[in-house]
Amino acid sequence: MSEKPSTTATDELLAIAAELDDSALLGVYKPSGPVFASGHGSRLTAEDGRSYLDFAAGIGVNALGYGDDGVAEALAVGVATGLLHTSNLYRTRPAAVLAAELVRLSFADKVFFCNSGGEANEGAIKFARRWAREQGGPAKHEIVALRGAFHGRLMGTLATTDRRAYQEPFEPLMPGVRFIEVGDAAAARAAISAERTAAILAEPVQGEGGIHPLPAEYARLLRHLADEAGALLVFDEVQCGLGRTGRLFAHEHLGVTPDMMTLAKPLAGGLPMGAVLLTERVAAAIHPGDHGTTFGGGPLVARVALEVLHRLSAPEFLAEVRWKGERVRRALETLSARHAAVTAVRGLGLMWGIELDRPVAPIIAAALGEGLLIISAGPNVIRLLPPLAIEPAELDAGLAILAEVLA
Ligand code: PLP
Repeated sequence: MSEKPSTTATDELLAIAAELDDSALLGVYKPSGPVFASGHGSRLTAEDGRSYLDFAAGIGVNALGYGDDGVAEALAVGVATGLLHTSNLYRTRPAAVLAAELVRLSFADKVFFCNSGGEANEGAIKFARRWAREQGGPAKHEIVALRGAFHGRLMGTLATTDRRAYQEPFEPLMPGVRFIEVGDAAAARAAISAERTAAILAEPVQGEGGIHPLPAEYARLLRHLADEAGALLVFDEVQCGLGRTGRLFAHEHLGVTPDMMTLAKPLAGGLPMGAVLLTERVAAAIHPGDHGTTFGGGPLVARVALEVLHRLSAPEFLAEVRWKGERVRRALETLSARHAAVTAVRGLGLMWGIELDRPVAPIIAAALGEGLLIISAGPNVIRLLPPLAIEPAELDAGLAILAEVLA
């Protein structure tokens, strides 16, 4: 029998070579640049000691930044219980309390926990189909999605993600998805039908698609058409939810309430967690055995998520996000007025897109060189998703670097 590896053995393995060799990682990503070793607040430090201001926040995950004391404390207490996982065959307290908190803070009556945004949307699609089958039989299974949407890369969510390049190598996709152009009322009326449509799936602010807030009027139309067709309205708030837009949920800006909503990215402070929030009406159609996932709502992640949710939902915290968001808006409007290459700035809260008349990859590389991490949302859009807890001075410092590299 081999001995249990000690922490020392793990440390030795991590330190084995001075140069990082990542050739054993499957090449689905193209990571490059610094090797990050630690983080504090809104800054990351690389192995060579260089510090970077982070306006990507792990693609919208690290809302409280790095090294947050509350998250560390929740994690330490969770670890000390010894219960990292028990399975959903047994009851534990954190998931039940977290679900009750999400219900208290939202339109929902029930919550299903899983491990990622894609998995949450996959669950929402299944729940919609399950519910719709009881309303209209197997024919009522279609999902209406929006052009520009990104809902994940699993087999169901890939079919609802509007990127041909992502879809094409994996065809045949899940059938029964119709795409409509955002803002096109006639297309929505034609696509949504009482006989066929189970659900309409939409991001209140499209993230990967280039930071496009859904027009409130169009959201109201989708709500109306869903009701008329006896279909569900599902909001994907994986990227725009949980305080990112300055409201706990992005759909609060729209004045439209969904029947289901998916969450993930920032929910458990960097640990993997997704959630589907459902109204009682939908939940009533879901029965034991209909769905499941081994790790969903484990006691450790749920305990950390409870801390994160408590912090992100505080009205003072959300007011600060809105205030910082206005600061970003003003800075980006100035930037846009100064640089002809900027063709549009869009966003709200701390979720912004800066569209250029050219590819943004060289600008992202230049910003990295100046110690600022930014990302893209499509080839021509720079995306800013700083930690929600970022200090105003750091926000200004990052915006100053951005102005410099754009110049
Ligand atoms: N939905 C939205 C709106 C997203 O932005 C993403 C990821 O970027 C996903 C779903 C998929 O989430 P995950 O990568 O956790 O599967």
